[in-house]
Amino acid sequence: MTERTKFILDESQIPAQWYNVIPDLPAPPPPPLHPGTLQPVGPDDLAPLFPMELIGQEVTADPYVDIPGEVIDVYKLWRPTPLFRARRLEKLLNTPARIYYKYEGVSPAGSHKPNTAVPQAYYNSVEGTKRLTTETGAGQWGSALAFATAQYGLDCEIWMVRASYDQKPYRRTMMQTWGATVHPSPSRATQAGLSVLAADPDSPGSLGIAISEAVEAAAGSAETRYALGSVLNHVLMHQTVIGQEAVAQFGMAGETGPDLIVGCTGGGSNFAGLFFPFLREKLAGRINPVIRAVEPSACPSFTRGIYAYDFGDTAGFTPLLKMHTLGHQFIPDPVHAGGLRYHGMSPLLSHMYELGLFEAVAKPQRECFAAAITFARAEGIIPAPEPSHAIAAVVEEAKRCAESGEEKVILTALCGHGHFDMVAYERYLSGEMTDFDLPQERIDAALANLPAV
Ligand SMILES: *Cc1c(COP(=O)(O)O)cnc(C)c1O
Repeated sequence: MTERTKFILDESQIPAQWYNVIPDLPAPPPPPLHPGTLQPVGPDDLAPLFPMELIGQEVTADPYVDIPGEVIDVYKLWRPTPLFRARRLEKLLNTPARIYYKYEGVSPAGSHKPNTAVPQAYYNSVEGTKRLTTETGAGQWGSALAFATAQYGLDCEIWMVRASYDQKPYRRTMMQTWGATVHPSPSRATQAGLSVLAADPDSPGSLGIAISEAVEAAAGSAETRYALGSVLNHVLMHQTVIGQEAVAQFGMAGETGPDLIVGCTGGGSNFAGLFFPFLREKLAGRINPVIRAVEPSACPSFTRGIYAYDFGDTAGFTPLLKMHTLGHQFIPDPVHAGGLRYHGMSPLLSHMYELGLFEAVAKPQRECFAAAITFARAEGIIPAPEPSHAIAAVVEEAKRCAESGEEKVILTALCGHGHFDMVAYERYLSGEMTDFDLPQERIDAALANLPAV
């Protein structure tokens, strides 16, 4: 009998609802605060930026939210996504561990980001928005939103972190192919960009700066709203299609559940999307996995940041979010996992980390690329630099199992492919890639500028 490698659901098994973890938690996360009044922000504060439906989803106490049929119709272009058993990687590592990965790289944009870009574009189109603005780091979020806005006939304007704009011209072209306008950030199109350029004309940019620019552009126009690709509660909730499908696929694979769930974290959305539905099972006492976030050691918000109210962006336009942060003025070194270069972390995940619901580790980029190359040679798929962090942690655990003989069941999200990241792979393969030591003084200096709350 041949052994199964791939677990595929039918189109009719795309989840009908998103799962909201908040009602299942012992305490709700602290609310975002208005930076002037220090009072919780209300719907009116957010209405210039987001459609009402998403503002409602951000604070809903409902355990499930129905996915509109118009969104499911677009999801059908690539969902359900496959769950793979990494048999070839297991063999290569000679491990008794059983390794599974949920592959989100099959979406049109090549990552998990369209799972939220599509509903965000849909709700905006229903509520009369004509144009969406956003920021993008490595370009995955920008390309996801460019794809999604094209589905519903919206204009799309994107501020792309300068370092990636220069390093990843093909992501930019992809966004333009779907009809979006792309600015390098910092740009001369906004006050926020101009003030950064005045201080540092060669600024490589950061997600925080790009967010400031996109928010400024949206706040100045009634028909324009803003879309965020990670961090917020509604984004994490949209991503739970990943974990809900994986729960069903684990059943097909004949597994009770994973012993270890591993995911990479930038703002936290792919990790949350994978593990929330399994956490629901864990809180109900049906399974008991260890859950582990993996972040880059160049931008270690869980493992070296503090849990405090901070701005989501560099210029200080956003509400204050209680989260693990390195300080809103922290600019990480230009590591190749651009999607993980964010100074903060999802407030919901930060709260859950404080509750002890999962653990976190940090990895340097060369270890991650080494693991990604091992993975690519065994499994074929070339991972994006971001999930290579999760793969490094999976490989580490699988080797541990090889020594101990433990038959651990490991699950990770391969949340995107690396086809646009060949410059990074080339640098690793030619031996030019370096790891960055992050001195404590740089973190301390950025944390000295936290807002007083
Ligand atoms: C954006 C992105 C990330 C980081 O964002 P999360 O919200 O933490 O998931 C990770 N991997 C890929 C492939 C991405 O596109």
